[in-house]
Amino acid sequence: MNKKQTCTFEWVPDRSSKIPIYRQIIHFISTQIQSGAWEVGSQLPSQRDLAAKLGVNRSTITTVMDELAADGIIESNFKGGTRIISNTWALLLSEMSIWNRYVNLGSFKSNHAMIQAINRLEFTPGILRLGTGELDPTLFPTELWKKSLKSLENIPSLNYLEASGLYQLRCAIVNHVKKFGIIATPDQVLITSGSLQALQLLSVCILSADSVVYTEAPTYLRSLQIFQSAGIRLESIPMDEEGILHHRIPISAKSTKILYTNPTNHNPTGITMSNRRRKALFEYCAVNRIPIVEDGAYEELYFDEQSQLPIKQMDQNGDIIYLGTVSKTLSPGLRIGWVIASEPIINRLGDVKMQMDYGASSVSQWIMTEFLNSGMYELHLERIRAEMKNRRDHAVRVIRQYLGDQVSFRTPAGGFYIWMRFNKKIPLLKLFEEAVKAGVLLNPGDIYDDAPTNALRISYSYLSGRDFEEAVMRLSDIIKKWT
Ligand code: PMP
Repeated sequence: MNKKQTCTFEWVPDRSSKIPIYRQIIHFISTQIQSGAWEVGSQLPSQRDLAAKLGVNRSTITTVMDELAADGIIESNFKGGTRIISNTWALLLSEMSIWNRYVNLGSFKSNHAMIQAINRLEFTPGILRLGTGELDPTLFPTELWKKSLKSLENIPSLNYLEASGLYQLRCAIVNHVKKFGIIATPDQVLITSGSLQALQLLSVCILSADSVVYTEAPTYLRSLQIFQSAGIRLESIPMDEEGILHHRIPISAKSTKILYTNPTNHNPTGITMSNRRRKALFEYCAVNRIPIVEDGAYEELYFDEQSQLPIKQMDQNGDIIYLGTVSKTLSPGLRIGWVIASEPIINRLGDVKMQMDYGASSVSQWIMTEFLNSGMYELHLERIRAEMKNRRDHAVRVIRQYLGDQVSFRTPAGGFYIWMRFNKKIPLLKLFEEAVKAGVLLNPGDIYDDAPTNALRISYSYLSGRDFEEAVMRLSDIIKKWT
């Protein structure tokens, strides 16, 4: 059939059938498309003609068209014409399911297509993950892990725990964070299923649809849809090498607004906010009554000494909500994170958390308690810091060697990431696709910003030195072809 032609209906619905007429029509149209009899681009007759031809009411045809349009199979144009726009097998198959119309009805937004692709491609055997924000699996402390599992033999039960989490773990966290200046009581700690859940809780508990979250640009938060799904607006604030430019945060009193910052070993730029910027930011936010959420996901991954303490450590009034996690230091699979905040905030988050999941895994909480109390966590941290420092040095050498004059970057003082900007404009999507073909998975910078970045988030935490070099070599081969 010529694409410009109108689909012909040599068929009428079976009025004796128990299947509703509109369903029969949908099924007929779907089968025609599926069999290839009607191609993408073909015009359907007008609704009036179709109603007359099939001997049904106009309203029946309207229902059919609405459903096919909702499923993305047809599209009406402004002149009243309707054409077929999809013949994908999945859509046609889903015509059979009553759930199809509901799949995207919910308010939570889908991931960016690029992140969905990354999440899928990460599990391609042999792919070199040059942007993954996780520790190399070979660094998992198997011996310490075995020891920590022994402690499970003595746990009293695996019943639900208190709303704010295992008391012993909260005490262990209080002791742990004291090392970097945070003073809290166990009642000011909430255990969460990773700090992602803490962000989710904040979005539904303390913010509303007209709230604004100021964030660094770029920011990890942009790679998520948590706040946006709740109707909350993210507003980007630029950074320099000392961190977020606090005086660029608007001070309008119109809506509720908070600042989300990831000041130490920032994801994705690797920047660590200077002490003077921390102080200035804290004072600016206090004067302008902007509460702060401080994400300390990479807090303890400093390479030389911990010369910057969390902003939370300056907070005497409970103005800062601090988020911690063991995902970057030990294991994201444990799903253990924590919130440190004033008691009313902890109680509110804990109450909603109970309604969401009744608590983070009790097994993980007991294991983490043992890791902290036995000193194994500290020991492991020391090893990880030393390893990451070596990997950072190696990564910097390799990038200079293979991409030296093509890119600019700062050497991070800790964490996982090098924010690598191309000196000339590079089509990031094309680069992503070409890299995948070459067996390299990238994290393009644009997923962390609302403006084009011309950058990649390079991670040295996941690949071994050899694989890192191989991945950068392949990347440089692709770029050489273009320049
Ligand atoms: N915050 C930051 C800055 C992160 O990079 C991540 C993980 N990429 C998280 C929070 C969430 O980590 P998790 O939920 O595993 O604790």
